Amino acid sequence: MGSDRGSEILSRLRADRRRDRCVTHVERVAARPGTPADWPEWVDPLLVGRLRAAGITAPWSHQAAAAGAAFAGRSVVLATGTASGKSLGYLLPVLSTLLADPTARALYLAPTKALAHDQLRAVRSLALTAVRAASYDGDTPAGERDWVRAHATFVLTNPDMLHRGILPGHRRFGPFLRGLRYVIIDECHGYRGVFGAHVAQVLRRLRRVCARYGSQPVFVLASATVADPGVAAARLTGVDVDVVDEDGSPRGVTDFALYEPPLFLAAGRQQGAGAAAGAGAGAAGRTAGLAGDAADAGGGAGGAVVVAAEEADGGDVSGVGENGAPVRRSATAEAADLLADLVADGVRTLVFVRSRRAAEVVANSARRALGLVAPELSERVAAYRAGYLAEERRELESRLRSGDLLGVAATIALELGVDISGLDATVIAGYPGTLASLWQQAGRAGRTGQGALAVLVARDDPLDTYLVHHPEAVFGRPVEATVFDPDNPYVLGPQLECAAAELPITDGDLELFGSAARPVLDDLVRRGRLRRRPAGWYWTQRDRPDVDIRGVGGRPVRIVESDTGRLLGTVDAATSHSTVHPGAVYLHQGASFVVEELDLEESVAFVVHAAPDWTTTARDHTDIRIVQQTRTRVVDPGLAVCFGTVEVTSQVVGYQRRLITTGEVLGVAPLDLPPRHLRTRGVWYVVSEGLLAQAGVEPADVPGAVHAAEHAAIGLLPLFATCDRWDIGGVSTALHPDTGLTTVFVYDGHPGGAGFAERGFGRFGPWLTATRDAVSACECPAGCPSCVQSPKCGNGNEPLDKAAAVRLLTTILGRLAGH
Ligand SMILES: [Zn+2]
Ligand SMILES: [Zn+2]
Repeated sequence: MGSDRGSEILSRLRADRRRDRCVTHVERVAARPGTPADWPEWVDPLLVGRLRAAGITAPWSHQAAAAGAAFAGRSVVLATGTASGKSLGYLLPVLSTLLADPTARALYLAPTKALAHDQLRAVRSLALTAVRAASYDGDTPAGERDWVRAHATFVLTNPDMLHRGILPGHRRFGPFLRGLRYVIIDECHGYRGVFGAHVAQVLRRLRRVCARYGSQPVFVLASATVADPGVAAARLTGVDVDVVDEDGSPRGVTDFALYEPPLFLAAGRQQGAGAAAGAGAGAAGRTAGLAGDAADAGGGAGGAVVVAAEEADGGDVSGVGENGAPVRRSATAEAADLLADLVADGVRTLVFVRSRRAAEVVANSARRALGLVAPELSERVAAYRAGYLAEERRELESRLRSGDLLGVAATIALELGVDISGLDATVIAGYPGTLASLWQQAGRAGRTGQGALAVLVARDDPLDTYLVHHPEAVFGRPVEATVFDPDNPYVLGPQLECAAAELPITDGDLELFGSAARPVLDDLVRRGRLRRRPAGWYWTQRDRPDVDIRGVGGRPVRIVESDTGRLLGTVDAATSHSTVHPGAVYLHQGASFVVEELDLEESVAFVVHAAPDWTTTARDHTDIRIVQQTRTRVVDPGLAVCFGTVEVTSQVVGYQRRLITTGEVLGVAPLDLPPRHLRTRGVWYVVSEGLLAQAGVEPADVPGAVHAAEHAAIGLLPLFATCDRWDIGGVSTALHPDTGLTTVFVYDGHPGGAGFAERGFGRFGPWLTATRDAVSACECPAGCPSCVQSPKCGNGNEPLDKAAAVRLLTTILGRLAGH
């Protein structure tokens, strides 16, 4: 027993032959004894006493290393695993300093209010009366804010409040900023993409304002384990940082299984229907010779489509995908079965799913299954998700802790800040998007001194497929980096306006904001936003600049129920044409609606409650133009890889309806929507006719080969950059006017770029290798959602040539290896 608990549970599951076949790999993540260090001599004795009383007898080596660097005045990033106690790494220097020096101040930034409140509770539990800690965020009452500004020595907040409240009101924060010694940036791997670029500039604004008050704070960053944490931390803060990434904390043994649900085989009749309908679309795609996959930037659309996909496959009624492709049993259906079996076996299990609806579906179906075999157990399974009332959640948490609840299906809501222990197993239904989240979720299981089981159940998409067949990508050194581009002019412009409104920008400030700042400032002057005077650049408007650091640009489109006027939600402007066009089926909290009208001028979509038995998918035409090629890697005369600025023009031209039950295509309806333009950054590769011939790709097969290669590449980029496939788009074409050759583009779906395509350029070889491996590993005959089909394809996944894509990618990789 003891440390073998995880493997015991797993072997009981594998006794079922069908299930045994789904397990692609089992990794035994070894126990680690832990490396304690001495308390650094500078740590305040009172603090040591309080920590000892709380059960912390000594720091682990990584905590002591990070604390030492920070106390010595060196900025540092602490990048170690979940539950390794990163907070002690910054609390030691911060609290010791605050105890010793009544004028010293510290600022803590977390990506969410909840996490900041958790930290505040942790600090207050140490009962250090000389440390006046307080949170300062949207929930802080006005009266309390004055007290915080005047008296708090340790302020816990978030980047939004720093941006909107503290920096614009810096004069009222004068004494605090003057004494600011430490800035803690927790969960810093969360600052990615456009949001990351904004936060990077907010931190530069903070450094500039601090310098004005005579302080130069040390930055202490806490990160999950990612590739190059030091690079990301330096880019985020603009200062050099030490890196501490040797985890000295102890860990129990975990048996980690990778699991791929079985493939359904398509029924002949349905395949025929799909293929016939596909042929028409395919002809259109081939005529154009260009396949576009508009990026649906923003989580809103991703979420909506995730729900739609589950809607379509969750019931397991359909074994047929687009164009007759086979599909896998859904990860949620498989996870529900696993949950029922584990609970029946008395195993305390947590299932992680990606949507609220899926949490309910998994819990309900596990309860139903248990009802047949062990009715007394079905009451001991529940769903836990965002949207529940605080009391409900607290009750569920305490039932889980006490062991009264044996099984819980949870959304990411359980990931942060909630203390649950004593679980035996976690089942992760679908890769959660980043390795950091995967380990955070897997790390939920494991009682002290006992082993635990973690299972990653693959969803039907190329990244999940790749991961369950490439354990080294999960268990080896992380290749995924936190990326963002602080020089994005669409971020830098508004941020420089904010900075100028805080204090005029001088020549001396230019270095701080980076080499892109000068041209952006000139542009702001030309547009009358700033005024150039001898002493610097001045904000000229009466009102402060209004900048949303989490926004993705454009006014969001509100979704309003026509009969009642009730606001159901919003979608990003960028995605609205493809998700809420007239006729679109829109899902909201399990209920379905049909869009009656999309009013682009007022940014509102009117919907009616209806439950048609079909789903809708938008069709679009996408063109891409190279604006500026900034980096080029000529591999040989037949192959070049490039990075630069591109302009993407996409137009939703129609939508397809498919029956939920059989996947049968009911038809394509035209739409009349204006084109949309996106200027962003892209990575592209250009191949010659000679290379295509070497790969054995006939001219007629080129569109299908490059389109399939493009889809898979979009699916795999999130392995290398912290993005989601919905954050990026692509275009593939047999003949591109700007290059005169066959070209595949992958671009950032956000104005100005977000760093994802740049990372793809930098890691081109490994990225394409993973892409080729994901496609060739899939056992489907001619392409399916696990390899080359994309749920957001604007061309109805036509044409796609899986075999030719593998040959093309292999030939490209051969040429890369030769140079
Ligand atoms: Zn496949
Ligand atoms: Zn496509």
